[in-house]
Amino acid sequence: MQTIRGFRDILPETISLWQKVEKEATQLFEAFGFKEIRIPVLEKTELFARSIGEATDIVEKEMYTFADRKGDKLTLRPEATASIVRSYVQHKMYASDPVRKFFMTGPMFRRERPQKGRYRQFYQIDAEVFGIDSPYMDSQLIFILHELFKRLGLTGLSAHINSLGCPECRPSFQSALLKFLESRKDRLCENCLRRMDKNPLRILDCKMSECKDALTDAPSTLDHLCPVCKDHFETVKRTLETQGVDFMVDKTLVRGLDYYTRTAWEIQTTTLGAQSSVAGGGRYDGLVAELGGPPTPAIGFAIGFDRLVEVLEQMEAPLEPPLDLFIVSLGDAAVEKAYFWSCELNRKGVSTELDFRGKSMKALMKRADKLKAGHVLIAGENELAQNTVLLRNMATTEQVSLTLDHLVWI
Ligand code: ATP
Ligand code: MG
Repeated sequence: MQTIRGFRDILPETISLWQKVEKEATQLFEAFGFKEIRIPVLEKTELFARSIGEATDIVEKEMYTFADRKGDKLTLRPEATASIVRSYVQHKMYASDPVRKFFMTGPMFRRERPQKGRYRQFYQIDAEVFGIDSPYMDSQLIFILHELFKRLGLTGLSAHINSLGCPECRPSFQSALLKFLESRKDRLCENCLRRMDKNPLRILDCKMSECKDALTDAPSTLDHLCPVCKDHFETVKRTLETQGVDFMVDKTLVRGLDYYTRTAWEIQTTTLGAQSSVAGGGRYDGLVAELGGPPTPAIGFAIGFDRLVEVLEQMEAPLEPPLDLFIVSLGDAAVEKAYFWSCELNRKGVSTELDFRGKSMKALMKRADKLKAGHVLIAGENELAQNTVLLRNMATTEQVSLTLDHLVWI
């Protein structure tokens, strides 16, 4: 039996980096006032269709959607934002306190062409903020990403930011875009032509090289921002500069989901080839109301956990968790003693290993080496007869004899 295409096991050999990232992220989020939330992996299809947008790649081609036994249309979550908004609205969180900050980590599912950095089950670290429309929140989220990546020792990353405007300025941009697209009609792919009526903004996100070429001088949302959006974006840029966060304004960045308004961003790396985006985020001030809540500004981001780990793997060998002590026990009486000692030490937080297979001294020392034990405790029949054991420091090869009375854990 094999895993399904695009699905994979994350094996214990590589788990230390995953744990390190998760630990750093949790610490950082908690220090910035975020609370963990856990949401289901399965939701009604309608939730994603309505929030991400019908005419997007995710909804049109990538979702795992099926009818359950009663015929309800369900989808494995392709992202977390929609579900967290659903939760915020369902539990009327806005009623007691509209300002909420959440984070979560978990698997997402998209049926894409699997390749390095692109899987059908992948993991995201996600953060969302509700109830704050201030541009300082936009800056803070980008600052948090910058800080997390700094703590993880990552280099070669750049933040691309753009402003997508709001319902005030969209219409003027939309008509300029449509006019431009009409003039390039003969150079666009079939998919883009189809989207011209439904969702012209999505055309700017097309990955086909002919379309990309045709769109190089497409109008930019930045030239159509209303004064409020303009001010908002200026504050974001100014504060990021003051905080020393490297960024570049990328007027071609539109992101692949419909719900974004104003600031949108992506963190890109130069080290992962085509799969260059390690995190993406943006403001979505209209979505809470769209999903039935009161008008509530909101903003969030998602980090591609798998890609982040891949970048880290290129930088350093994964840390093997060290083994504190290997117990070499020779003879039945010693094995039983070693068993009790090892349980007691493990209980106290010291990691130990022993071997029950009745192997020779030589084989056991070899195994201690293989497991990279810091120390080896040797309990042979001779030693036990004299009420002693040997403790060997594997790095220095120094060896001391201890009487059993010295063993504080007994
Ligand atoms: P891409 O342009 O690479 O397809 P995206 O815009 O679809 O990314 P988002 O929806 O913004 O991605 O998700 C946030 C992050 O999740 C991405 O920056 C990326 O690191 C990661 N991600 C998205 N899809 C996948 C996938 N299929 N496998 C692994 N990571 C993914
Ligand atoms: Mg994608």
